[in-house]
Amino acid sequence: MIIQLEPAISSADKDAILSKVKSLDYKTNEVKTQRGSYVVAIGKKEFDIRQLGNLKGISDIHRVSDDYKLVSRKWKVNRTAIDLGDGVAIGDGSLAIMAGPCSIENEAQVQKTIDHLVKNGVKIMRGGVFKPRSSPYAFRGLGIEGLKMWHTLVRKAGIKIITEVMQVSQIADMIDYVDVFQVGARNSQNFNLLDELGKVDKAVMLKRGISGTIEELLYSAEYVFAAGNEKLILCERGIRTYEKASRNTMDINAIPILKEKTHLPVVADPSHGIGIREYVDSVALAALMAGADGIIYETHQEPEKAASDGQQTLDFEESERLINKMRKAFELLHSF
Ligand code: PEP
Ligand code: MN
Repeated sequence: MIIQLEPAISSADKDAILSKVKSLDYKTNEVKTQRGSYVVAIGKKEFDIRQLGNLKGISDIHRVSDDYKLVSRKWKVNRTAIDLGDGVAIGDGSLAIMAGPCSIENEAQVQKTIDHLVKNGVKIMRGGVFKPRSSPYAFRGLGIEGLKMWHTLVRKAGIKIITEVMQVSQIADMIDYVDVFQVGARNSQNFNLLDELGKVDKAVMLKRGISGTIEELLYSAEYVFAAGNEKLILCERGIRTYEKASRNTMDINAIPILKEKTHLPVVADPSHGIGIREYVDSVALAALMAGADGIIYETHQEPEKAASDGQQTLDFEESERLINKMRKAFELLHSF
């Protein structure tokens, strides 16, 4: 059960609500986010909800049968949009495109990417400065200095930044330079990181774990929300299966399922989803047709020279073609 509290509730009224709920054999969790205050009550006992009706300070009560509560659509039927400022939003009914290299490499690469994005009206640039790599000898990113360089260049173009945070200690250094924190597939269930991201007032995009279930992704989102941050976006990026013909198996099924289960925006990453440059556009279009609110993909001026993930990275011509196709597909879908 989710009890939404009135913004100006007195502490006496809140205490009265908490003790009443506890007396009904429910465990209470107080949640305060950028948008509201809630009591998430966990328990099994059936009771007449009118027992809470005469308490002061409650603006709404919802029974949520799912085990995750705050991210459930059973509570909030209207979809949540994530506003990044300056007219850029994810999940507001527009098509969100996030494009850029796997890794931020140098100033020239960043500037070329920005020019490509500006030319095509893309408002969110992706790129990694802290890179999770399977091998410790692979390029692991430029770190915080790279993020600062990128931020300086990108701000002049009015473009937003999404980039991966790998550990709690990086959050404070990154926060002034990031618009969306990305939690990578390998950290999808790093609960300490999720808890800490619950304390920041920045959007967070959670990727599905490499072997993670849809439900586990929803629970990860619940962690961040319950810790105080409801600016959340979920990302399907393919899962590990027995199939070897592609890097991962893009789970298109997850998109309509997630959209049904949660009010949060759902985006797709076809680059990691299939891992093969030639097929990125097919998977991107499939994800949009399945209901994704946006697409995040990798592009680089010379993919064959990219410091990471070149095999799944589009060059700028391919990227421009994909952007045009996605816009047409999105329009078509919304005309049905
Ligand atoms: C990335 O976005 O470059 C990345 C490492 O993604 P994932 O965590 O999905 O593997
Ligand atoms: Mn990558």
